[in-house]
Amino acid sequence: MAILVTGGAGYIGGHMVLALLDAGEEVVVLDDLSTGFAWAVQPPAVFVRGDMGDQKALADIFATYRIDAIAHFAAKIVVPESVADPLLYYLNNTAKARNLIEAAIDADIRQFIFSSTAAVYGEPGVNPVTEETPLQPINPYGRSKLMVEWMLEDVAKARDFSYVALRYFNVAGADPAGRLGQSTPNATHLIKVAVQAALGLRPGMDVFGTDYPTPDGTCIRDYIQVSDLIAAHLLALAHLRSGGESLVLNCGYGHGHSVREVIDVVKQISGIDFEVRLGRRRAGDPAMLVAGAERIRSLLGWTPRHDDLKEIVRQAYVWERDLAARIGRT
Ligand code: UDP
Repeated sequence: MAILVTGGAGYIGGHMVLALLDAGEEVVVLDDLSTGFAWAVQPPAVFVRGDMGDQKALADIFATYRIDAIAHFAAKIVVPESVADPLLYYLNNTAKARNLIEAAIDADIRQFIFSSTAAVYGEPGVNPVTEETPLQPINPYGRSKLMVEWMLEDVAKARDFSYVALRYFNVAGADPAGRLGQSTPNATHLIKVAVQAALGLRPGMDVFGTDYPTPDGTCIRDYIQVSDLIAAHLLALAHLRSGGESLVLNCGYGHGHSVREVIDVVKQISGIDFEVRLGRRRAGDPAMLVAGAERIRSLLGWTPRHDDLKEIVRQAYVWERDLAARIGRT
C-alpha cells in the first residue's frame, strides 16, 4: 500500500516523502508546484502534478495506486496573504480539503493526517498552549485550517474514518543529511530571513516589535525542527494503521526563543554581524506562542531529537548557502 502526500514537493511535505522512503514506504506525491519544486521529489516516489481539490485527478490516482492513507500538506500558508485574499484561503485550504476528504471516503481510504497550525489558537492568553486552549483564530489562514479540523471531526463520527490533526508551531531547520530544506522564494519566516541576511542575500533584516511583554521585548516562538515534526507524522501514521482513534496534537518542544535570541544565534553560527533594524510590530503577532507538548509525547511516544536552536540554525544556514546551486541544477 502507498501513502498519498499532497504538497510533497514543498518544504514540510518533502521531508515527509524522504522519511517515508527511508522507512521503505511507497509514496505518491500530488503537488501543483505553485510553491514546491519537482526536483524535491525523487524516485522511487511517484510524482503527479495536479490539484489536490480536483476529484477527477484524485479518482485517477486512487484507481492507479493502492493508497491506504493520505498525508495532507498542500496549503497556502502566508498569513498576510490570507488577510488580503481570504477567499483564496477558504478555497485552497478549506474547500479543496473538503473535496480531498470526500474523494478519500469514496475510495475507501480511511486514514488521514492533516497539517494544522498553532494559528488555530489566535492570541492565547496563556502559555504554554494546550490542545484544550480555546480556539480563536485571528486570521483567515487559521480559520481556513480550523474548519478542516472540524470537517475531519464530523466525518470521523459519521464514517469509518480516522485522522490525526497536527498543530504545527514554528517549523524550521532542514534535513540533517542535507537533502532538503526551506526553498520557497520570498519566504517570510524569521530563521530563513535571518540566515539570508547573514549570507548577504538580503540587506539586513527587521525585527517586528521590541515592546512586547517578554523579557527582551521581542516575540517568543516554539521552533520545532522539521525532521522532529515529520517523526510525529510517522508515529501518527503507525497509530492510525494500528486502529488508533482520531487525535488532535500540538507539535512543538514546549519552550520558546525570542526574536533577538534567534538573531544572535544566526550571527554566532554564521560569524556575520548583519544589519538588524528595530521596527514596529507586525499586525497579528501574538507576544508568545509556546506549545504545551505533553499529549503527543504521551499518546504517540514522540521524542524530539533536534531540540537545539543552534543545530536548527546551522541546518537552515547550510541549506540556504547551497540552495542557489541546487536550484540552478534543475
Ligand atoms: N519576525 C521578525 N522579522 C522577520 C520575520 C519575523 O521580527 O523578518 C518575527 C515575527 O514578528 C514573529 C517571529 O519573528 O514574532 C516569528 O515569525 P515567523 O514569520 O517566522 O512565524 P510566525 O510565528 O508568524 O508563524
